[in-house]
Amino acid sequence: AREAKKNHLASMIYSDLNTQKEFEYEILSDFKNALNNGQIYLMYQPKIDLKTRKPIGLEALIRWNHPTKKQIKPDQFIPSVENTNMIHEMTETVFRWSLEFQKKLNDKGIELPISINISTKNLYNKDFYNRMSKILKEYNIKPSLIELEITETILMENPEDSKLILDSFSNEGYRIAIDDFGKGYSSLDYIAQFPITTIKVDRFFTKQILINPTTQHIVKATIDLAKQLGYEVVIEGVEDVETADLMQKLGGQSAQGYLFMRPRGEDELITYLNQYRDELKKG
Ligand code: C2E
Ligand code: MG
Ligand code: MG
Ligand code: MG
Repeated sequence: AREAKKNHLASMIYSDLNTQKEFEYEILSDFKNALNNGQIYLMYQPKIDLKTRKPIGLEALIRWNHPTKKQIKPDQFIPSVENTNMIHEMTETVFRWSLEFQKKLNDKGIELPISINISTKNLYNKDFYNRMSKILKEYNIKPSLIELEITETILMENPEDSKLILDSFSNEGYRIAIDDFGKGYSSLDYIAQFPITTIKVDRFFTKQILINPTTQHIVKATIDLAKQLGYEVVIEGVEDVETADLMQKLGGQSAQGYLFMRPRGEDELITYLNQYRDELKKG
């Protein structure tokens, strides 16, 4: 019986792995077309000023409506795409779409920075900066209206190359954010050697801030130091007013989260942002 159980377990694990491989294979073969046939698109989530509770930025988040697999979450397909060269086309497409949306907003007299998520694999690619520059030139948009979100991993794995490439973007005027800050093991002291403008405090801390005094101390110390170093501090994943208020009290300047708005399509964003035209006036 024990042997049978073991075999059953082994075959379950085997078939899980197999299904996972098949899933990955199907995803990758579908992905290339999906990028150009409307199945893949962007949603945008606002970033809110914690004092005024008004929008001051947007983050572009990729979505995939697969015809048979329904909605596939970015966490389910980006890691696979990152194992292929398609990650470059994906990021360039996201960049293009974000610039097009920025242009649409600018034409309506609205101006606010849009953040895009950059894969570590993109930054390792020698052509990345040049290709992004070429795309930016096609649009008449200030680099300061674009923020690149990267994770700590890249800075740890390859500090010399990261510094060179981030310096190029920074000199051009792009904003650069550290996404999911606190999840990795880098310190602000280490990060300070890179041209960073923004620190995004990971949702891991946000989730427990109300109930965990230790987290409160850690987040307060992080915010204090980050602000002394001149960074904007964004709190990720704020879902209730109490958390927003506490994060504001601890010094957080801005936040994103379901409390304010879930990621939405362009038309809904335009309607929403129109209410804040005066604050977001192009200038
Ligand atoms: P991220 O950059 O940290 O983005 C924040 C994630 O948290 C998004 O998930 C967003 O929908 C979700 N979120 C926002 N507010 C809340 C909240 O209050 N509560 C909870 N529970 N979640 C919230 P999403 O869109 O599923 O994206 C997941 C991750 O996939 C992103 O994490 C980012 O790392 C990656 N990603 C998304 N779009 C892109 C992209 O265009 N390019 C790349 N390279 N990565 C992307
Ligand atoms: Mg992000
Ligand atoms: Mg994040
Ligand atoms: Mg993330």
